[in-house]
Amino acid sequence: MDFSLTKKQQMIRKITREFSEEYIAHIAEESDQNSQLDPTVMKEMKRMKYFGTCIPEEYGGAGLHDDTISFCIITEEIGRIDASWSITTGVHCSVVAYPLYIFGTEEQKQEFLIPLAKGDKIGAFCITEANAGSDAGGVETNAYLDGDEWVINGSKIFATNGGIAETLLLVVKTGEKGRRKEFTVFIVDANTPGYSVGVREDKLGVRASNTSELVFQDMRVPKENDLGGIGKGFRIGLQILDYGRILMAAQCVGLGQAAIEASIKYANERVQFGQPIGKFQGIQWKIADMGVAVECSRLLTYQAAWMCDNKLDYGMIGSMAKLKASEAAMQATHDAVQIHGAYGLMKAYAVERYFRDAKMAEIYEGTSEIQRMVIAQKLLRRGY
Ligand SMILES: Cc1cc2nc3c(=O)[nH]c(=O)nc-3n(C[C@H](O)[C@H](O)[C@H](O)COP(=O)(O)OP(=O)(O)OC[C@H]3O[C@@H](n4cnc5c(N)ncnc54)[C@H](O)[C@@H]3O)c2cc1C
Repeated sequence: MDFSLTKKQQMIRKITREFSEEYIAHIAEESDQNSQLDPTVMKEMKRMKYFGTCIPEEYGGAGLHDDTISFCIITEEIGRIDASWSITTGVHCSVVAYPLYIFGTEEQKQEFLIPLAKGDKIGAFCITEANAGSDAGGVETNAYLDGDEWVINGSKIFATNGGIAETLLLVVKTGEKGRRKEFTVFIVDANTPGYSVGVREDKLGVRASNTSELVFQDMRVPKENDLGGIGKGFRIGLQILDYGRILMAAQCVGLGQAAIEASIKYANERVQFGQPIGKFQGIQWKIADMGVAVECSRLLTYQAAWMCDNKLDYGMIGSMAKLKASEAAMQATHDAVQIHGAYGLMKAYAVERYFRDAKMAEIYEGTSEIQRMVIAQKLLRRGY
């Protein structure tokens, strides 16, 4: 077993770290406070192909479609500086562009994937509704076929990138067989009449990331815009989320890393009782526990990514990675605030933002309870 990163992966880490420190770090606090993604960062990210990380070059991407570890490293390094950006690019790439690459027809790739991979358009993946959160089977947004078009009615909530997206992947109900609902994923151009953006959420964390409600009123979508087949939406939706979880885990590894780095710096500088607080066992144990939790998360995340690249069933390990990494990030950021004392609660210190951002990760792309449910079901069925 070889745990070392390839030269290319090491280079990708170095370049993304330098990029994030140069272009995102100085603006992260301001973006959090005004809940806006900075347009200059957007332009630079596009130049760096961070919107097409996991897409082959022939479709305008960076060509890392078979190197999910590198995709994780990029997401981790962006997340280390600003989780609002890592969720923006992570969602765009992993649950919009990548599914289009895997399930899309050649025509769909030409029309929708290329602009997404080049960063000319932003993507959103929309499944959650008012009555369909953890229970995705509760989706009520529906579509009926009228001639050569599907007519879609309903609404989605909490869509990351929703308010800025020009291409949406929409999971809707297209029928019922007996008591079983049938779902389909549709590719939707945001300029379609009948589409509108509703409320933009004002959130606790990842505040610069756009989270919006989307409304569809008699929105007509061409028949050929289904992704992967009519009635296949539930299976495809779950596969999309499986992949997305690896990247959400990577984002949390970055966030946890940032919390540890800030804590080490502060513990070495802050003097109480005549010595740096890092000399006290109470602080040392916190730092040790943070390190263990984040390192376990990193290993699980890279394992899931490696399994994905080697065409192995990574669903359960991906869920474990997402669960472990989000809870490790929560623990590490919580301890980081504690180590900073009152300063940890102040806007002047980034750990306050890390703490709020980490909480979100325990909820989106499947809550911790749902990850435990998925893991337990797999373990009970297959054994260990
Ligand atoms: C910042 C952010 C970004 C998001 N981005 C997107 C996006 O891009 N696209 C999208 O479609 N959605 C998105 N979501 C929605 C997110 O995926 C859902 O919020 C999440 O799946 C949970 O659904 P819910 O909020 O309705 O909670 P609920 O499902 O109502 O759950 C409430 C509580 O009950 C628990 N619970 C529910 N069922 C069970 C069970 N069977 N066993 C034990 N406990 C249970 C949950 O774990 C939770 O603690 C986003 C959410 C946030 C906060």
